[in-house]
Amino acid sequence: MSKTEIQAIRKQTYNLHSQTVQAIADKYAANRETIRQLRKTDKKANYLWRRKYYYCVPLKKESMTISKDTITIKKAEYGYALSDLLTKRKKKVWTEKVPKKNKAVVILNRSDEDLESCNYAEIVWRNGAYWFCYSVQVPEKDLSSYDVKVAGGDLGEIHAVTVATEAKALLVSGRAMRSLSQFRAKALADLSKKMSRCKKGSNQWEKYIQAKKRIRQKSKNLLHELEHKTTKEIIAFLEEEHVTNFVIGHVSGIKKNTKKNSQKKRKTNKKRGQQLSLWNQGKIKQKLTYKAQLKGIVVEETEESYTSQDCPFCGGRHHANGRNFRCSVHQTEIHRDVNGAQNIARKKHHVDAKPLLSVVYKQPVWYKHFLSEEQRQKTKHPNDQPRKVKRIASRMA
Ligand SMILES: [Zn+2]
Repeated sequence: MSKTEIQAIRKQTYNLHSQTVQAIADKYAANRETIRQLRKTDKKANYLWRRKYYYCVPLKKESMTISKDTITIKKAEYGYALSDLLTKRKKKVWTEKVPKKNKAVVILNRSDEDLESCNYAEIVWRNGAYWFCYSVQVPEKDLSSYDVKVAGGDLGEIHAVTVATEAKALLVSGRAMRSLSQFRAKALADLSKKMSRCKKGSNQWEKYIQAKKRIRQKSKNLLHELEHKTTKEIIAFLEEEHVTNFVIGHVSGIKKNTKKNSQKKRKTNKKRGQQLSLWNQGKIKQKLTYKAQLKGIVVEETEESYTSQDCPFCGGRHHANGRNFRCSVHQTEIHRDVNGAQNIARKKHHVDAKPLLSVVYKQPVWYKHFLSEEQRQKTKHPNDQPRKVKRIASRMA
């Protein structure tokens, strides 16, 4: 069925604005086209097959009126419900007009932004409430008039991302991400082991396959969320510090094997862990790049060899031991990851070696349910209210 055919048939069957029905058909057609293109090269790409029980209601410009105080969402109410049409055959000819009443839902306009230019919005169910999520064009910031301020970014395992300017540094923990990756690897390995004990194609085997799929999907979603939360913190820091140039290191492919052969088994384990995190690091870097560019920050790449060993104080090369990097000549200390981040920035720009004003540690998320009741009381903070989610789909093409 073509898009226009779908639109024609579905036009008067839902209690929605005609533009909304069109928008859903548009989305469906766009998805179908994407998959059709994908299937030319990738036979694994599947057409939309899952039944959707929930769907965010898309709204086009014509189906809403936005004033300073209110947002009016227009909709239509038809004489027959869709189920009546299908079962009771009330409507005999498809071209016959269905009795229609124009209705509207009015909500308060609580946005601080100017919604005049908004031409697409969605109604989304999140955190126990319906949200009006709009998209507006945000003018790209022009930072060229500012002084050049450089920040370096280092990706790691314990600290997922470390950013450092000349005077300030922010470290976002990667432990949540790492533990999730480890959990997934272990759960999948356990299931594979169980599967090897049962007959291929049996009921039990099929159940394990489903369980694997579930674990993959769920951990993928969680990782995705963590990646976004991590990068969000970093970008907020860059914006606050008025950084104009952001330098990130290449994720180097193979690390030098320094372990002895006697520890071969341990080495292979480590290698696998490394690969997993490299994959994640690539995704984090990609998110960092596009988010920084949206803020008008120039993103530069550089190779990151020896950045963790170069000494900012004497220019020599020492090995870092433990969390801190210590200059063996001057005995001055600096956080190892911060040093790495600053050295990455140094590859492209000049960055002075001076004592840091502040080093901030952050968690991408705070998992409350991991703590016991006693700990929870201790860590209670007046600002610990559940955050309201306001989502702005930035930049519509
Ligand atoms: Zn030194």
